Amino acid sequence: MTNSTLAKHATETDRQTVPEHIYQSLREAGQRITKEREALITTLFESDKALTPYELHNMSSKHAEVGLTTTYRLLETLLKNNFVEVFLVQGELRYGLCKPSHHHHLVCTTCFKMRDFDQCDFNTLKIVDFASSGHRLEIFGTCSDCSNSAVRKTL
Ligand SMILES: [Zn+2]
Ligand SMILES: [Zn+2]
Ligand SMILES: [Zn+2]
Repeated sequence: MTNSTLAKHATETDRQTVPEHIYQSLREAGQRITKEREALITTLFESDKALTPYELHNMSSKHAEVGLTTTYRLLETLLKNNFVEVFLVQGELRYGLCKPSHHHHLVCTTCFKMRDFDQCDFNTLKIVDFASSGHRLEIFGTCSDCSNSAVRKTL
């Protein structure tokens, strides 16, 4: 699978396309694309926010009746296949659809919107006596929408 066929979660145009690459990969792994799985994947795909399993489960119900166990199982599968990224935000695990190529994330701790951040200065770090096999970087803060609305409230 090439990176160009993979969806990003960040832009409008990408969000309008069906995440066919995920379905294809699940099928190849011998998993059926049930209504429940489709509802969950669609919900993740439509959201630009990192969701808790419970939120994902609730939001998916507009597409199909989905069980919480099914939600957790699918997230586990998607995580193993690098289709989702998991973030620990204020003590809660939140999941968002992601491209598998190397990148980092900006996560808003007010609305939980996540954005890709492609800059990586990892190679400039001096790591001694340790063979590093990977790294993650999540930058937490406030997105421009949330900081704008905070300014409006104080006016
Ligand atoms: Zn990402
Ligand atoms: Zn925000
Ligand atoms: Zn990096």
